[in-house]
Amino acid sequence: MPFDDLSLTDLTEFAKSRGGACLSTEFSGPNEPHRWRCGRNHEFQASPVLLIHGGYWCYVCFPSVSDQSGWDYDEIVLTDPLLHQFHRA
Ligand SMILES: [Zn+2]
Repeated sequence: MPFDDLSLTDLTEFAKSRGGACLSTEFSGPNEPHRWRCGRNHEFQASPVLLIHGGYWCYVCFPSVSDQSGWDYDEIVLTDPLLHQFHRA
């Protein structure tokens, strides 16, 4: 399992790359739920594998992959450095 060597530092760096933060104070395992906050101040819970390997992020900003009606992409790119980098207005 390649995610076993993740550390809290990795989670913090990953969250930062999405413009957010990892709120958990310790790494409890790649498949264990951790607390996160996105750049628009929504707090949510998800496992590191789901976010890093699965590509998911904040459930409020991205309600469902198959339903984009709730997405406010122009707002999201303002706080997500990764998406902002590739955003074309
Ligand atoms: Zn959000």
